[in-house]
Amino acid sequence: MHKRLIPTDIEFGSISFDAELVSRYSGRGPRYTSYPTAVQFTDEFTAADYRAAVLASNENGRPLSLYVHIPFCATLCYYCGCNKIVTRNAARVTDYLDYLYAEVTLQAELFDNDRVVEQLHFGGGTPTYLDDEQMCHLMTHLSQAFTLETGPSREFSIEVDPRSVHSGSMQLLAKLGFNRLSLGIQDFNPLVQRAVNRIQSTGEVQKLVDDARKYAYRSISFDLIYGLPHQSVASFDTTLDQAIAMRPDRLAIYNYAHLPERFKGQRMIHAKDLPSAETKLEILRHTIEKLIDAGYVYIGMDHFALPEDDLVLAKQDGTLQRNFQGYSTHGGSDLVALGVSAIGNIGNTYAQNSVSTIEYEALLSNRQLPIKKGLRVDEDDQIRAAAIQDIMCHDGIDFAVFGQRHSINFSEYFAPELDRLTDLAQDNLIVFTDEAITVTAKGRLLLRSIAMIFDRYLASAEAHKRFSRAI
Ligand code: SF4
Repeated sequence: MHKRLIPTDIEFGSISFDAELVSRYSGRGPRYTSYPTAVQFTDEFTAADYRAAVLASNENGRPLSLYVHIPFCATLCYYCGCNKIVTRNAARVTDYLDYLYAEVTLQAELFDNDRVVEQLHFGGGTPTYLDDEQMCHLMTHLSQAFTLETGPSREFSIEVDPRSVHSGSMQLLAKLGFNRLSLGIQDFNPLVQRAVNRIQSTGEVQKLVDDARKYAYRSISFDLIYGLPHQSVASFDTTLDQAIAMRPDRLAIYNYAHLPERFKGQRMIHAKDLPSAETKLEILRHTIEKLIDAGYVYIGMDHFALPEDDLVLAKQDGTLQRNFQGYSTHGGSDLVALGVSAIGNIGNTYAQNSVSTIEYEALLSNRQLPIKKGLRVDEDDQIRAAAIQDIMCHDGIDFAVFGQRHSINFSEYFAPELDRLTDLAQDNLIVFTDEAITVTAKGRLLLRSIAMIFDRYLASAEAHKRFSRAI
């Protein structure tokens, strides 16, 4: 548990928007769903290293978390920067699932049976691209291979595309054990939806939310995107009204980064239709004010939640975590990654499957784990990861507590970083004493700019270019 560092003059969950600071500090940077980030993974880390890491992890018997990647989508959303396969070819999906089952079996053989899966996440792509039969098969396969938690403490979540579900989907997913939903909304405005090729009516989403409530899902999360074509403060205000009226437990507001040279689909978006940088900032400012007014609490980065949501409670009691799914209440488990491009985290290692479906399937047809790269995290990485986690989740670092936890003298270990923090303190993003760093209400919107100070891999401007803009 972490000591809360928020000074008394800064109300919990408060956030202060300073357009000048936001423009100045929102350069490119990692989202820190891991540290080191995937950019540091190398092919020196092999499937044999992974196997050794799993065997060692069985000694401590930590619970498991499973991530399952379903890369398929029926249509292309033009803004998308994910690793996905747009296809209507059902045979391609059936083939992929066969290889995925083979991977589940190979992976499960490595883990002790008494390691319970407390967390499960289906991501994509579009996990709900699978039909009911495929979804049932996949869950059966997972539950035969691993020991899935069946009690209410389980956190089983799935990314849902409202366009790919039917009237019985929520009931079926609940029956299969899912209790958390994440819905890709992006924007309710039909003009915006047409411009990004993602058309879904407010009615469809409302029906889905009603069904989810009927089947007692513990949490519903909406993803919205600002910076899309034709958006204005007024148009996004209407989208926010519609979203807030449905009262999702969590809301994530992502920034659209227009990089048509990198993501082919984005070439379908006309730059002239995009809101200006000033409008984007105004949309963000307005969104923050509106969500806070509507009773949402700011968690960090792009995330908001209702006061009674587990994320807020975890933030309050200092147990909030950051992992590949973003903010989470579950720490202390080993993450098993299944599916093309998926990233796992066992003990002090990261391992990523091949990003090529052809290679992924070829390796599995030879009964080999499809791991292509990864990393063994050294002691310095672990200490820096903890500092970054404290900034991202706990809004500060208490030097004495941190030093004790990691057997270091914080001020000596991070002397160069503390020097570099002076500028951020002068800009009032942090309050900085001999005993602690505390993120201010202004700094809370720029957490990753503060965390980047502790990232030893970001020395060059080239390194920054690999990441998206913070805001
Ligand atoms: S946004 Fe989601 S549904 Fe759309 S193309 Fe990307 S992964 Fe597929």
